[in-house]
Amino acid sequence: MNNFDCVIVGGGMVGAASALSLANLGLKVAIVEHSQPKDFDSSQVLDLRVSAISLASEHLLTQLDAWSQLQQWRLCPYKRLGVWEHQASYTEFNADDIKQTHLGHIIENRLIQLSLWQQIKKHQGITLFCPASLLNFSSANKEVNLSIVNNENSENIEIKTKMLIAADGANSQVRKLANIGMTGWDYQQSAILINVETESHQQDITWQQFFETGPVALLPLSGKSELGGYASLVWYHKKAEIKKLSALSNQQLQAEVLQKFPKRLGKIKVIGKGAFPLSRRHANTYQKGQVLLLGDAAHTINPMAGQGVNLGFKDVKALQTVIATAIGNGECWYEPEVLSRYESMRRKDNLLMMSTMDSLYATFSHPSPAVKLFRNIGLTMSGKIPFLKNKALAYACGV
Ligand SMILES: Cc1cc2nc3c(=O)[nH]c(=O)nc-3n(C[C@H](O)[C@H](O)[C@H](O)COP(=O)(O)OP(=O)(O)OC[C@H]3O[C@@H](n4cnc5c(N)ncnc54)[C@H](O)[C@@H]3O)c2cc1C
Repeated sequence: MNNFDCVIVGGGMVGAASALSLANLGLKVAIVEHSQPKDFDSSQVLDLRVSAISLASEHLLTQLDAWSQLQQWRLCPYKRLGVWEHQASYTEFNADDIKQTHLGHIIENRLIQLSLWQQIKKHQGITLFCPASLLNFSSANKEVNLSIVNNENSENIEIKTKMLIAADGANSQVRKLANIGMTGWDYQQSAILINVETESHQQDITWQQFFETGPVALLPLSGKSELGGYASLVWYHKKAEIKKLSALSNQQLQAEVLQKFPKRLGKIKVIGKGAFPLSRRHANTYQKGQVLLLGDAAHTINPMAGQGVNLGFKDVKALQTVIATAIGNGECWYEPEVLSRYESMRRKDNLLMMSTMDSLYATFSHPSPAVKLFRNIGLTMSGKIPFLKNKALAYACGV
């Protein structure tokens, strides 16, 4: 029988970070994951799935020794953030305003996961079950017994643990098996992510223009292209429209982008695209006995402000703090009463960010001319009150 202090189902960005952060406390950790991330090669084309990584997440990845590897591979820092609906309401946030060198980085999700996996593979305290899937689990006497299957040879494996972490994403199987309910809905909008070559070289700005049908955004990417640089464009729209856009050839999509996106985009060449549904989910509890939910397994948020995985990394940090403090105080760290402190630390913060995104979504998709006028005045004013502007910026960056 394999016996662990902690088993994590899901070795994505959040699961991998939580494995390292708990193993660094001296816990014996196991990860169960379907498939391992593909190795990096500098000739690979940029992945479609990228994330805006906040300063707080950068600190966590540095603490876990993953950041220096990402710097050697590829990432793109950005210093400015521009938002507007009507051109006159254009508001720009700058890292200088909060005395930082940058506001964040745009990084491919796979590379974040891979940089953590490199550290995991070197760590004596972590066992990887991969490719493997969870079959079932049961809890009794402060222990969780899991059945998993090795996806290569179909062998069934039994595992025992003091704590089970669900980091298995938005459709979390662990959450379902634990009978933890959730509230949520699907947004009326979907998003298409479009990787492009840009005429401008690597940019230090990420921007977003709001339309009633949904925002359009540019996230700068690293590297030099034939045209100049690279960027990831995000186009939010009604589901049916996104379906139509997805069916276009790269050339046809390019023409649509040039028509709809602001002129500041300049010349582009579409090199890849993919559509994603948008949903909001919030688990009714993040803890049930010895089972804990982290990252998207606990909450999925409208990606408009690029906060999803940043919230997940804050969950990781909070759980590490709870367990380190309990160990330091000589408490039994896996007591449900101790583990419940994790939820107390995270629930309100996650809810606040989710509600803020929902208010933005509702305000900016409202068709009324009066609301439109109000929101443009609001944007303009927010740019003119440095105290409020810098507070909002520091909150978004996690500092
Ligand atoms: C369009 C879009 C844009 C976004 N942009 C941003 C952004 O700019 N910034 C940001 O912070 N966030 C962003 N997000 C959100 C971010 O992508 C997610 O919050 C993040 O991927 C969640 O990470 P996770 O590790 O919790 O879950 P996942 O990434 O879903 O990982 C779950 C892992 O669990 C594994 N798994 C699942 N079930 C099992 C099982 N039964 N057995 C074994 N393994 C299993 C999967 O293989 C996977 O590796 C965006 C989301 C979308 C849709």
